[in-house]
Amino acid sequence: MQLLEDRIRKDGIVKEGGVLKVDSFLNHQLDIELYNEIGKEFRRLFPDKGINKILTIEASGIGIACITAQYFNCPVVFAKKAQSINIDGEVYSTTIESFTHKRSYNVIVSKRFLSNDDNILIIDDFLANGCALLGLIDIVRSSGASIAGAGIVIEKGFQKGGELVRSKGIHVESLAIIDDMSVEDGCTFRH
Ligand code: 5GP
Repeated sequence: MQLLEDRIRKDGIVKEGGVLKVDSFLNHQLDIELYNEIGKEFRRLFPDKGINKILTIEASGIGIACITAQYFNCPVVFAKKAQSINIDGEVYSTTIESFTHKRSYNVIVSKRFLSNDDNILIIDDFLANGCALLGLIDIVRSSGASIAGAGIVIEKGFQKGGELVRSKGIHVESLAIIDDMSVEDGCTFRH
């Protein structure tokens, strides 16, 4: 998506350690005009009329998922970060390793909000090693719902997540795929 690539080139900041900061437009200050274009593009890439719910993970995925949901006319459910795995059976839960924070955390979704009648589109801001996305896939699978696909805003193509998730047969669409990035030269995109 040209608009997004141009914006990453202009305002993205590559940090040491393979982290791209996009907090001036995507995940701290939010550019809603850009968000709208992102939502429209996800609708174009996932024309499946049967998608009835969007699943994402707090916090950065929520805004993107909400704007996208307006183009799908469906609700958004977000996986919540929880202190401990809930044992009363009311939630689906999984453990995710955080790329940016270098630690593991548990996420939960109430069983009331996912069922085997659902056809889910997963949305997230970044795909790096794939842990967040694989965790969300695990939760959807536990509920018996089907997965229409995963829409990612920025995929770091030099990390293993994209290949890993696609090899499981999941339809992944990323709006910008970065093949290479460095503090000196910025980002190189895949086309
Ligand atoms: P993964 O689980 O695929 O390794 O990483 C995905 C999650 O880590 C995303 O939800 C995102 O919050 C965070 N993340 C991974 N890489 C980056 C990055 O380069 N920049 C930012 N801002 N977040 C990242």
